[in-house]
Amino acid sequence: MLNKIEHIGIAVKDLDVSNEIYSKILNVDPYKQEEVQSEGVKTSFFKVGESKIELLQATNENSPIAKFIDKKGEGIHHIAFGVDDIEKEIARLTEEGFELIHTKPKLGADNMRVAFMHPKSTSGMLIELCQQIKG
Ligand code: ZN
Repeated sequence: MLNKIEHIGIAVKDLDVSNEIYSKILNVDPYKQEEVQSEGVKTSFFKVGESKIELLQATNENSPIAKFIDKKGEGIHHIAFGVDDIEKEIARLTEEGFELIHTKPKLGADNMRVAFMHPKSTSGMLIELCQQIKG
């Protein structure tokens, strides 16, 4: 089951600049900053009620975030839905004919197992499924 909008991922050029902007908007500091080397990104997370904002900055030019910003500029990069059982949702969505970028969950930022759906099959939106790792 998809149980909430877990976070919205926003591609930014400069994490320090955007951290300041979002700290002012949300009136709270990021609760976590983390680099995901496999994705070539630095991230920071803000709490907004039970959802989060994830800011993403590329750490190299081959990063998917660098490519996204080249094409579309800064802005919403993906929407992440929280799921109870990520394997089950991957199987269900594959069965429904969606194209999954990850057919097996991988380790994402913020202690999550994640899988992305290809924007080709979702009207242009990159969608992330994420399941909190317990403990
Ligand atoms: Zn995300």
